[in-house]
Amino acid sequence: MSEKKEFTVLTTDDEKSNLDILAGILSPYYNILVAKSGARTLELAKEKKPDLILLDVMMPEMTGFEVITALKASNDTANIPVIFITGLSSTEDEQRGFFLGAVDYITKPFNNAIVKARVKTHMRIVDQMRTIERIGLIDPLTKIANRRGFEDRFEAEWGRAIRENIPISFLIMDIDLFKIYNDTYGHQQGDVALQAFADTTIDSLHRAADFVARWGGEEFVVLLPDTGIEGAMEIAERIRVNIEEMTIPIDEDTQTSVTVSIGINCVVPELDTPMKEFFEKADLALYKAKELGRNRIVKAEDL
Ligand SMILES: [Mg+2]
Repeated sequence: MSEKKEFTVLTTDDEKSNLDILAGILSPYYNILVAKSGARTLELAKEKKPDLILLDVMMPEMTGFEVITALKASNDTANIPVIFITGLSSTEDEQRGFFLGAVDYITKPFNNAIVKARVKTHMRIVDQMRTIERIGLIDPLTKIANRRGFEDRFEAEWGRAIRENIPISFLIMDIDLFKIYNDTYGHQQGDVALQAFADTTIDSLHRAADFVARWGGEEFVVLLPDTGIEGAMEIAERIRVNIEEMTIPIDEDTQTSVTVSIGINCVVPELDTPMKEFFEKADLALYKAKELGRNRIVKAEDL
């Protein structure tokens, strides 16, 4: 490979021989950074922002598990994917690694082809996510569309609804008492809750055309093309129940939960139907749902 190496891998191991093997496998394709301790890994991760970290589990002073915990706790390094490298091969350790946020696991002694393939796979994911984020339509935290991504899609579906004379429904959802959740458990745990909320909402939608986005803060929206108010109510209720039943892990022993309030608006739009007012009415319905005690659904037509 003669072109400039685009990606950087930080390799960490307390044994030099392992670092040499990894460099031998990966240096033809990537820039390589080397750390012999957990402390040095954290330093280099923060300074150099590598695209991927290969992290030895068994190291004196600071174990790989402690290192990944520290990486995930800092905004600067939380999004760098980590692959654990270790002689351990117990499923318990593997599970612990994944629980702490590792994306993959490689066992020693190294198989060159496996190391190369795993690193390549994760670099491809890094590359894809960057492209999507660069386009600017994705919320980096929840990996779903952001407001701009939603508006693009909405305008297209709104136009189609006008042409085909079909209904379009819109849900606006706000996580109940989220400020208290954040104050109680901290912002990092708040982010975990937002991610879980996005995942559960996606799982509650069954049609490819249904579209969920993060509107901002703890507000999410769903676009339901070709869906009347009864269908929209049904889907909103499914989301409400799934969110209520969802558990959000804090650690291995502790879980939390949240509820959601939902405002709905539905219309068969015509050329002169104001889109802005359509959103505002959904917003008012959401307010009403909050006022009535939260964890409920209100439709704009009932206001
Ligand atoms: Mg070691």
